Amino acid sequence: MENIPEIFGSAVFNDEKMRERLPKEVYESLKKTALSGARLEPSIADIVAEKMKEWACEMGATHFTHWFQPMTGITAEKHDSFVTPVKGGEGIIMEFRGKELSYGEPDASSLPNGGLRNTFEARGYTAWDPSSYAFVKDGTLFIPSVFISYSGEALDKKTPLLRSIQALGKQVSRILALFGGASGTTATPTVGAEQEYFLIDKEVYLKRPDLVTCGRTLFGAPPAKGQELHDHYFGAIKPRVKAFMADLDRELWRLGVLAKTKHNEAAPSQHELAPLFTGANVATDHNQLTMSVMRATAEKHGLVCLLHEKPFKGVNGSGKHNNWSLLSDTGVNLFEPGETPAENAQFLLFLTAVIKAVDDRQDLLRMSVASASNDHRLGANEAPPAIISVSLGEELTELLTALETNATYEGKKRTKIKLGADVLPRIPKDTTDRNRTSPFAFTGNKFEFRMPGSSLSVAGPNVILNTIVAEALDEFATRLEGSADFHADLNNLIRETVAKHKRIIFNGDGYSKSWEIEAERRGLLNLRTTADALPCFVKEENRRLFEKYGVFTEAEIYSRYNILLESYSTTVDIEALTAIDMVKRNVLPAAEAYEKELCDLIGEKTAILGADSARTEKDILAKVSSLAEALVGSLGDLEKKVAYSKGLAGQPQAVYCKEEVLPAMEEMRAVIDDLERIVDALYWRFPTYNDLLYSVN
Ligand code: ADP
Ligand code: MG
Repeated sequence: MENIPEIFGSAVFNDEKMRERLPKEVYESLKKTALSGARLEPSIADIVAEKMKEWACEMGATHFTHWFQPMTGITAEKHDSFVTPVKGGEGIIMEFRGKELSYGEPDASSLPNGGLRNTFEARGYTAWDPSSYAFVKDGTLFIPSVFISYSGEALDKKTPLLRSIQALGKQVSRILALFGGASGTTATPTVGAEQEYFLIDKEVYLKRPDLVTCGRTLFGAPPAKGQELHDHYFGAIKPRVKAFMADLDRELWRLGVLAKTKHNEAAPSQHELAPLFTGANVATDHNQLTMSVMRATAEKHGLVCLLHEKPFKGVNGSGKHNNWSLLSDTGVNLFEPGETPAENAQFLLFLTAVIKAVDDRQDLLRMSVASASNDHRLGANEAPPAIISVSLGEELTELLTALETNATYEGKKRTKIKLGADVLPRIPKDTTDRNRTSPFAFTGNKFEFRMPGSSLSVAGPNVILNTIVAEALDEFATRLEGSADFHADLNNLIRETVAKHKRIIFNGDGYSKSWEIEAERRGLLNLRTTADALPCFVKEENRRLFEKYGVFTEAEIYSRYNILLESYSTTVDIEALTAIDMVKRNVLPAAEAYEKELCDLIGEKTAILGADSARTEKDILAKVSSLAEALVGSLGDLEKKVAYSKGLAGQPQAVYCKEEVLPAMEEMRAVIDDLERIVDALYWRFPTYNDLLYSVN
């Protein structure tokens, strides 16, 4: 029998190991540094590094790396060995100095910087983030790090996340103080990121250049059986997948990731893994780790893990539900309706702050999940629409409405609620979230943001969430601090906030057409694509928001905006080029070979049986030949458009990609899919959706 509690965290230099291995003063000093985000004393760093290295070497490590999260969306590493020549002697020792632990200079000048490093100093620096534990993986000690420019500008996703956590904490503590919290009491955002993915057989995968290059199929006729029978969702897990999942769990547990739930998802070959929640910073690191361990573990099983948001048209895509809440230093979930009138009032204040924040900054939330790949998912009748709304469940909505209008709350017991004086009627958790179609749902004691795509780093959406909630709380705190009649003012504040922002609350079917119309009537934004959503990043009011809370400087905002735009257009162009290549060298030749076979057959049949005998073959030939002709036409059109796109840059290129390149690809795809349906399977050179979606048995 395996001892799972013993396996858990065994590859992590966690609190337990630090306590055990570090001198007491060093341990305490390190803890303080980790909590305050201050700089580690060099003398302390030396001791920590030495002890960390000792442990890592026992774990079989020979190298160390600062592990960081550049703007590529994945993690980066550069391994250095501990090997150091003995001074004035022969041979080597394994050495790791405090300086190496604390700082790195990977240069890494080819990582995206959106122009930041041209204007500032060229070098990029990494610095250890002691609030996330180091760990050993594949013979290397991984040190979670931030990545910044010489002048301190963020080049990564972790730095702004840490800043946003701090900004939010500051505002939360002002609010908690209003409710009598001890001075300095604050809270950190907690995050649980549910991860969806596809698993397919590696051999089949390698035969699809589009999957290999783009992570998604660029064409493929729908299979006879997709997800219509709902037989995959929560179905029995196949042995090969089970073996993969077991391995994945072990490895994640070793790395201290709280992998908890696993099940089959809606589409064939689609699965999900949910961890237990933890602090937003560590949860983000852990989600990155989870994705990379998923990929590596799949390889070991002859499988490929697809993290793309929409690998297959016609079946569900993959998302990453970002569960978010606030946990106080004293261990209280601030979104848990409490037991006492005071707790209830505090809960409602935090709840309405989120409602206000989401309504005020819909554009930023939408922007935070925008990518070329997620565009195929959002608003596609399987994922939330591109419109942001909040679902609270009927009871909570009714309660807020009653508060707003000063009316009787029509709950189970008729009561008129007075904040601070009355206990809220209990809101059963299972009534808060029956609605899976909402992009932003209150689920009892946390919010579930369902728009992030499966491949996205959760850093981005959480930076936005933390910052916009900080802003709302700031406004509330400023209004309530120094209030003469706290409860009256609180009542008014909540009433006004609900009145002003209730348009964002929607408990109905987010997938329906009628909601789109209703949302437009309410004046909610509907930023359908990445090209539509990105420009809001640089809008003046949003720039001011980020600067005010110290999350992004103006230069950082523009650099990120450029990176996101470029990544969008480049992704679309690469897809178009991949499709063009596949058509030219494989799809058209397959069609032509089949035409040739049909011609031969018609000739022979006619010679033997007479002119009328080959009617069926002639029909097929006519269809194939007209489709091939259409394909040549759309191919030419797409080639022209990609070439034109490549001559553009920035927002105009993104808009062109959205309006010209992507539709041209879709048009071409329709023709290819028709061809696939008619061309003899012996001639078709690519695995079909059937082959791909049912490749794992
Ligand atoms: P649901 O049934 O609403 O999906 P679960 O309890 O299954 O809720 O949790 C789903 C995800 O939400 C898990 O990853 C879980 O860890 C996370 N979660 C639960 N509570 C919190 C919280 N307070 N903060 C952040 N994430 C949370
Ligand atoms: Mg969930």
